[in-house]
Amino acid sequence: MNKFKGIGVSAGYAVGTAVVVKEASYDLASATFTTSEEEKASLSRAVEIYTDDTNKLIEKMTKEAGKENADILLGHLVMLSDPFMLQQMQDQIEGGKPAVQAVDSVCQTFYDMFSSVEDEMMKQRASDIQDIRISLIEIISGVESTKIEEVPKGTILIAKDFTPSMTSRINRDNVVGIIAEVGSVTSHSAILARAIDMPAVLSLADATEILKDGDTLGIDGGKGYIYQNPDNDTVSELEKNRQAYLDEKSSLLEFFGKETVTKSGDKRLVYGNIGKPEDVQNVIQNSGEGVGLFRTEFLFMDRPALPSEEEQFEAYSTVAKAMGEKEVIIRTLDIGGDKDVPYLGIPKEDNPFLGFRAIRYCLSNTDLYKTQLRAIIRAANFGNIKIMIPMVTCVDEVEAVKKLISECELELAKEGVPFKENVEVGVMIETPAAVFIADDLAECAAFFSIGTNDLTGYVMAADRGNANVSNLYSVHKPAVLKAIKTTIETARRHGIPVGMCGEAAADRDLIPTLVEWGLDEFSVTPNSILATRKTISECE
Ligand code: PEP
Ligand code: MG
Repeated sequence: MNKFKGIGVSAGYAVGTAVVVKEASYDLASATFTTSEEEKASLSRAVEIYTDDTNKLIEKMTKEAGKENADILLGHLVMLSDPFMLQQMQDQIEGGKPAVQAVDSVCQTFYDMFSSVEDEMMKQRASDIQDIRISLIEIISGVESTKIEEVPKGTILIAKDFTPSMTSRINRDNVVGIIAEVGSVTSHSAILARAIDMPAVLSLADATEILKDGDTLGIDGGKGYIYQNPDNDTVSELEKNRQAYLDEKSSLLEFFGKETVTKSGDKRLVYGNIGKPEDVQNVIQNSGEGVGLFRTEFLFMDRPALPSEEEQFEAYSTVAKAMGEKEVIIRTLDIGGDKDVPYLGIPKEDNPFLGFRAIRYCLSNTDLYKTQLRAIIRAANFGNIKIMIPMVTCVDEVEAVKKLISECELELAKEGVPFKENVEVGVMIETPAAVFIADDLAECAAFFSIGTNDLTGYVMAADRGNANVSNLYSVHKPAVLKAIKTTIETARRHGIPVGMCGEAAADRDLIPTLVEWGLDEFSVTPNSILATRKTISECE
């Protein structure tokens, strides 16, 4: 037996038989040029067939994994319908290149452009281009790769990369797991694997060479382990884990659509954290009772320039409408620290976590900040939106934000643009300063939300990325627990709601203590909503 480690991107256990996906091998150099009319016609036919096939896959994925996941494939069609890309292919054909070579070279240019950018979204675009390239060349040349949809029952698929359309072709009755040489937790293939609940391990170098057709393989998709030809004990262990995992999952279903109530009948709330408007579907699918943290900085990242007021309005109102009456807490821009937005040109700092970040940056860049505030109060007309300020350290900051909101209200009223008046403003408690002045903050804030990710680092003076001090970076340290308890007690004394949106809100060992101290709202990653509700319901 051999054991390998990749990146576990979709939890679950499986034992199955390896099928290594063979890519169509077509000798591009041997393609011959007919006439430019014929080559262009075969390119258009291929685009038509690809579009038809993709539309069918979109239909299949929508049924199996929901619309937002199927939209990844829609992105391919949007890319391919870009007249610039097709025009370049046609120009190359005019210049005497066979259609397959024109497709290959234009896709290569786009691929190089996207993959050279150090940005996860752009790298995804590169993988989408690969999908288009492989598919078009296969259609034009008539050469086929492994038919993923026809592999036998109990298959574990291994490929260099799973393009979204490969992932969408997977027949869930027959495939029990997937392994790839590249990819990360945020790859489209990982998102789709999670959406169809398929154990998946990515980023295992040379997987298509090391693992052979017919090998028996075991997968632990959570931890990222792969067992090649496992012994009987390992197989039984994996089977046992698989059963326990499935039992746990089905026991959570019982908490779907239910209120969150402790054993003694005390009601609490479990919300979801999101970074992009489409993530709200994940909150709904996991029966979240609200959105406790919309990390709006993600709307500002992965792009060359600032999002406009309209774009932001669209994003915030989409989430508000999707959640209906349920609360949506929009945190204003929290950049700086480890979240870099290159086009803002913030100078490099010696201590970025103690530097020009979050509300400090926004209050010095009021044009940018007011654009965001205007978009939020306009969107508030479409649902139950609240505003949350990150990295607060003094009361002045809260007052300054409220003043800017009043200015936005006046301006919008003058312009005759509809908006909601007096949107509630709450603060994140994620600095020791905020804990010390919690009494004063409670006088001017509508609610608190404890950001334990930063609070832990600042209270313990320990950087979570530094392995040498990782023993200190723990929410369970007495100093951090005391900061949390003080915050909850202060909020209760002042009669304002208090939530937690740092990772600790989903910490099973901590939840009973948080319930006892009186935390009202737990905002967690959408996949942890049901487990958090279950843990709370087991508390006295
Ligand atoms: C936190 O600090 O706990 C928090 C929720 O904010 P972020 O993780 O985005 O810094
Ligand atoms: Mg934070």
